[in-house]
Amino acid sequence: MTGKVLVYRGKEIAAYGFGDPHPFGLDRHDVFHDELEQTGLGEQVDFGHARPARVDELALFHTAEYIDRVSKLSAAGVGYLDDGDTPAMKGIYDAASNVVGAVLCAVDEVMHRNYRRSFIPIAGLHHAGRDSAAGFCVFNDCGIAAEYLRKEYGLKRIAYVDIDAHHGDGMFYAFEDDPDLIFADIHEDGRYLYPGTGHADETGRGRAKNTKLNIPIPPGAGDDEFLAAWQRVEAYLEAQEPEFILMQCGADSLEGDPITHLRWTEEAHAHAAAALCRLADRHCEGRIIGTGGGGYNRRNLARAWTRVVQSFIET
Ligand SMILES: [Zn+2]
Repeated sequence: MTGKVLVYRGKEIAAYGFGDPHPFGLDRHDVFHDELEQTGLGEQVDFGHARPARVDELALFHTAEYIDRVSKLSAAGVGYLDDGDTPAMKGIYDAASNVVGAVLCAVDEVMHRNYRRSFIPIAGLHHAGRDSAAGFCVFNDCGIAAEYLRKEYGLKRIAYVDIDAHHGDGMFYAFEDDPDLIFADIHEDGRYLYPGTGHADETGRGRAKNTKLNIPIPPGAGDDEFLAAWQRVEAYLEAQEPEFILMQCGADSLEGDPITHLRWTEEAHAHAAAALCRLADRHCEGRIIGTGGGGYNRRNLARAWTRVVQSFIET
């Protein structure tokens, strides 16, 4: 295993987005990679390029009907994939497939021990459900990665950790009754922010009841509130003994995001990423990948994701 971190870039994943004036614009990829170069961290990582995910890989998580619907709407290029948040851009199927392919490549590289950790900036599309697009998310790359780790590598206990301002409802409800999908999500209280879910008493269903951790945070909360919640996430994960960690690093929880109301700094992301690396080293043979998730203030996403990569390198 090399000690290096693998970061994904290139036109394949940069093409995922929705053009002006949509908050999930097409410039987010370059904003992050410019910052990575300017900080000098670009010289300390290797870069990877995506491949498109195959239909059978998408179908590890999504229904065949949904995959087909995205394909048809993407070819037509008009209207929306959901109720009005996620436009059916021409070619969005290919871009979304490349996002998934990048995450699956990252999983392979880490599982084969070619790299210690990996980060994919345009990914972490956590609102997509098994049969639905939602909240700018078409295919749920983290959900597919969890199923892929089980099928291809025989892992069972996958941890999904989400610090995006929005609740990761696409992940939570897809695995709500699955006790082996370890789920921890710190997010702005759903009474004030889309998608309105992720209440503290949502701990799983059926045989997964009391196995999942949702921590809603009031609007306006800063790093102190984050760190207090984070201690609970660490204690929870420590007790769960995960075999692989998927981190969703949404930067829309930082102060100044145009569509949310939390006020963390990028120190929250640096702290969480470093802590998860130590947890991965203790429980998962070091295996962790990070996905960018949301983040609509460009300066914030550049800084937060760069600090995640820095933590991946240094921890
Ligand atoms: Zn978000």
